[in-house]
Order: sequence, then C-alpha cells, then structure tokens
Amino acid sequence: MKEELLRTIPKMDALLSREEFFDIPRALCARAARECVDELRRAILAEEVTALPTAQELCARIRARAAALNAPHLRRVINATGTVLHTNLGRAPLGDALADAVSAVCRGYCNLEYDLANGTRGSRYSHVEPLICELTGAEAAMVVNNNAAAVFLMLAELAAGKGVAISRGELVEIGGAFRVPEIMEQSGCTLIEVGTTNKTRIADYRRAVEERGAGILLKVHTSNFKILGFTEETPLCELVSLGAEKDIPVLYDIGACFMLPPSQLGLHLGNTAREAVSSGADVVCFSGDKLLGASQAGIIAGKKKYIDAMRKNPITRMVRPDKLTLAALEAALSFYRDAGEAMEKLPAMAMLAAKSETLRAVAEQWHRTLCGACPAWQFTVRSVDEETGGGSLPEEKLSGWAVGVTAPNLSPDAMESHLRGWETPIIARIHEGEVLLSVRTTTQDERSIITDALRAAAQKAGE
Ligand SMILES: *Cc1c(COP(=O)(O)O)cnc(C)c1O
Repeated sequence: MKEELLRTIPKMDALLSREEFFDIPRALCARAARECVDELRRAILAEEVTALPTAQELCARIRARAAALNAPHLRRVINATGTVLHTNLGRAPLGDALADAVSAVCRGYCNLEYDLANGTRGSRYSHVEPLICELTGAEAAMVVNNNAAAVFLMLAELAAGKGVAISRGELVEIGGAFRVPEIMEQSGCTLIEVGTTNKTRIADYRRAVEERGAGILLKVHTSNFKILGFTEETPLCELVSLGAEKDIPVLYDIGACFMLPPSQLGLHLGNTAREAVSSGADVVCFSGDKLLGASQAGIIAGKKKYIDAMRKNPITRMVRPDKLTLAALEAALSFYRDAGEAMEKLPAMAMLAAKSETLRAVAEQWHRTLCGACPAWQFTVRSVDEETGGGSLPEEKLSGWAVGVTAPNLSPDAMESHLRGWETPIIARIHEGEVLLSVRTTTQDERSIITDALRAAAQKAGE
C-alpha cells in the first residue's frame, strides 16, 4: 500500500515541466517541489497520508512553498511585549522621520565621502561629528558600527600594551560573547582588576596606578544589572582627578545614555552623554540604538587628539558605519536640538516616556474593541511592569498597561503561536495563563492588525 502510493508520486521532471510553474524561477521551484514531495513521502511512510493529493493540490502546495521561500526572511513584526528596546526585535524602531531620511539618501547616490563645497574627497564622519560635538560638548567625535566596536577600537588604539585599571564590579558581560575582560585581552591591553565586586574606591585605582603600573583608567557602565545593598562605586569625577594627577587617560563606556537630560524626556533615571563628557572623561562611547532611539551605531566622543588617533587606526575601516546608519543618525541627532521634536519623531523615546494614565486609557478602549470582535473570549485590562530593554536602565520599571486574552478553545500557547504566524507577525508574551498585549510598544494601526488576527482566530475556532 505504502509502496504503491510512493510509486505514484509524480516524478520531479514531470512536475517541474508543468505550465503552472512557468513564472517561478527554476531553482526555486525545484527546491519547493523537492521539499513538498519529501514531506509527502515522509507522511506516507508514517501512514499519516493514505491517498495522494490531486495534481492540482500538489501544484498549489508547491506554488505556496515557493512563495514562502521567496518571501523576505527579515521582516517587520509587531512588538506587543511592552519592552521598548527589544534586543531580539531590532532595538529602537526608527519611525517615519528616520526612515524618510534613510530613504532620501539611499535611493540614489549621496555625498557620503564627497565634499560638496570644494568638489573634493570628503569624510563620512563629517556628517555627524559637528552635531555630536554640539549635543555632548565634546571636542571631537566619530561613529562606528556599534558600541561593542567602539569599545574595542578605543582600547586597541589607546590602551594596547598598557595596563588598564577597571573595577571588579564592572567586568561585565554585555550580551552574546561580549565580555569586558575578553575584549580587553583581544585589544592587546592588560587587565588590572581593582576593588571588589560590590565596592571599589578611588584608593584602589590609585594603588593600581602607583603599584601595578596601570596606564589607563576604564569605567564601564553596568547597564544590564544592578548591585543592591552594601555597595560603593567610584564616581567618574574622582577617576578624572586621578587621571589628571597621573597624566593618564580616562575612558568611559557608557553603554546606553540619553542625548538630553531625562527630565526633558519625561523620564527619571539615566545618564546623558554631555554629563560624562563634561565630567572630564577623555573618551566616552555609547550606543546609537539604545536610549538615543536611532540606528545601530557606536558613538565615540572626547578629546580631539585621541579621536584623531582612533580615526587613523586600521580597525576603524573594519567597523565604519554605512550611509544608511549615518542618514538615520544624523536625522535623529538633529531632532535632539529640540526636546519636543525628539519626542515627536523618535518612537522609542515617545514609548519610553508614555504616561501610565495614557496607556491605561488606550488599553481600556482597545479592550472594548476586542470584546466586540471576539464576544466569546475573555479580555482583561492589566497593569504590567515593562522594561526599557536593550540592557538599559535595569532599575527603571516602566509601569504600563496591557490587554490580557484567554479563549475557551484555544490555549495561550496556541494563541501566541497563531499571532506569531500572522501575516505581520505579532510577538506577545504569556503571563499566568493569559496572552498579554502591551499598549506601550504598539501603534494604533498595529493594534488594529492584532484585533484582526484575534478575530480570525476566534472565527476559525467557531467562536
Ligand atoms: C550595550 C553595551 C555595549 C555594546 O553596545 P552595542 O551597541 O550592543 O554594540 C557595550 N558596553 C555597554 C556598557 C553596553 O551597555
């Protein structure tokens, strides 16, 4: 029986020469056909299939598979998790204004490395350096691909062959394989651990310089965790005084920082790049797509002599930003000249600053819509703790609002998976048996798409 069925599966050549497939590129069609036929064969062997599909049905499957294989793998998704800088979902959403800036520059040629005033070769750093200096107060600045690259470049250029003093409390893992001690080793400097995990005083750094020959003082912001209780961290200004006294550079990896004081952005906590620069750190670096809400980038700002030296380092060529990154970053930085404009045009900043009362009102309104769309389902309005994300501000819980969903005939896991499989995939979390849909990270249009996806699921379940 099985053998009989297997033998009657159409031969690949015969399948591929059918005229239904004339508009599908040959290699793509062959892959789709092979996958569909293999699946069918497995299903027959497992006795899940006891009759062959019709030729039409098989062709339709192959066409659908080819379309799926040909669809972009990197896609837009809807973030209903409430985590604003979601590392797995591309961190900061760029919004229309930044997307327009990128689009304007990338459709044709651009003056990436061309000086329009003089008709000569220009520098890709010239587009954003003046803006970064203006906003941070730094003498000079440059941009690289991401902040991990910025840290590496900074150490490789300024600290190679030297002892670098760093607090034991700051020897952190940022994520992936990015661990501060390993980066230091790779960049050719020697790690000199000072203090303890919970307490490091300026005297510890002084001993590292005087007794162990440290030639660089490095501070790393412990962005993604918080030590509570019996702790002491040496403030940057004390490191700067020690650095000045001993004539050694002070470097600071801020990780995530704001471009404007958090109070102007409607937030409570967080560093600004300007504070770090004005404290006197020689070079600071931070991410473009964390609390700046712009494109993936590592921004380096500080004393001109150090930035000039870094620019000439061959590593710079390996980690330089492309025109898309620079276009988005330049636009975002220019918005920061006006706090109101930054909040209006940078979605991540507006999401971080969204007020709990506002989110609650939106959640309540959406709740009514959803009750109407799926009358047999249960919806609740929930107060939820949300996160900044991206390993930023771990101590700042954002209080948000979500709609919780339960359905009589659809498990939370099945509902989550249905949403994830939607045409525009919807990423939601499950908490205490409910699928939670956060309001903070979704737009009005996106909530309508979620409503449609839920309505379709309810109809399919006959509810
Ligand atoms: C996030 C972070 C990095 C890495 O930045 P990316 O932009 O992810 O490359 C480095 N250092 C600190 C302190 C960070 O928080």
